[in-house]
Amino acid sequence: MVLRRTLLAAAGSERLRALVSGTRPARGLVGRFVAGEDTADALAAARRLAADGLSSSIDHLGEATAHPAQAESATRAYLALLDRIGEAGPGLRAEVSVKPTAVGLGLGPEGEELAAANIGRVCEAAAAHGTTVTVDMEDAAAVPATLRIVARLRAGHPGLGCVLQSYLRRTSDDLAAMAGSGARIRLCKGAYAPDPATAYTAPRDVDSAYVRHLRFLMESDAYPMVATHDPRLIGIAGMLAERTGRGPDAFEYQMLYGVRPDEQRRLAATGARVRVYVPFGREWYGYLARRLAERPANVAFAARAVATRS
Ligand SMILES: Cc1cc2nc3c(=O)[nH]c(=O)nc-3n(C[C@H](O)[C@H](O)[C@H](O)COP(=O)(O)OP(=O)(O)OC[C@H]3O[C@@H](n4cnc5c(N)ncnc54)[C@H](O)[C@@H]3O)c2cc1C
Repeated sequence: MVLRRTLLAAAGSERLRALVSGTRPARGLVGRFVAGEDTADALAAARRLAADGLSSSIDHLGEATAHPAQAESATRAYLALLDRIGEAGPGLRAEVSVKPTAVGLGLGPEGEELAAANIGRVCEAAAAHGTTVTVDMEDAAAVPATLRIVARLRAGHPGLGCVLQSYLRRTSDDLAAMAGSGARIRLCKGAYAPDPATAYTAPRDVDSAYVRHLRFLMESDAYPMVATHDPRLIGIAGMLAERTGRGPDAFEYQMLYGVRPDEQRRLAATGARVRVYVPFGREWYGYLARRLAERPANVAFAARAVATRS
């Protein structure tokens, strides 16, 4: 738990970011979790996944944008990506995931409006190219505004997906509010530093909450997107889908690029829908730190990377 907290704190550290980002071995580790720096790398990864029967949700890395110009540039990166997804056609099986703080949320009192407008532009482009958007969920401070943005944009874009995090105590209420008919809901445990006042911190409590939320979602009219690598939860999702009469087209599993790739292919081979979250871009530091916090076994490798600084 201490290591996890330390790594999650490190995710926001500019000094560590500068130190780690320059090391060659760290870049080697990045390659396991990040598809590459350019749109072409992300598309190549999506193509490889599609050949294995896997869909993807492509994320242009970046978060906590400090200037409106950066928010604009992130939005344009998504528009360019969507042009390429459109050119590739439906065989690519790709949608996009967007972080609100990458496109303006947090930029002062106008930030929410700016993020809503930018995500709206991304939704328009996705619709024009026959695909969808999912809005990632970030730390607890961003949750209320993110949910307001999704609720608002869903009026014009009913396929807009949102993410709910089982570690937050508020999520039962949010599920009830967001899980309307056909609503695409990605359920995950939650990747940010949890505040004990508002979140479950013990893994056992987070897992129990996940099962409660999963049951609610499977019994609802929403479209569940089961985002976990946890074998027990994957098994429970399959059981609940069977019990609630959901066929393989009525929900999907989601996993991260580079995490349990054999399990991704195994599930797809059973006929299940599986979508892989494919991050790309240069701003990989915060994303990588969260992946290390989830899997301390990777930390020794990262520590050697920093120590040798080659
Ligand atoms: C598609 C997708 C989208 C997500 N979007 C969001 C989001 O918008 N907001 C958010 O807060 N969180 C998001 N997450 C992250 C999520 O909240 C968890 O932090 C993450 O999935 C790890 O939790 P877990 O359910 O896999 O269970 P865990 O208990 O962390 O892991 C279960 C098992 O999975 C394997 N595993 C898990 N993580 C790793 C890893 N990094 N490296 C290697 N093996 C690993 C291990 O075998 C582990 O024992 C997303 C996750 C996925 C899969």
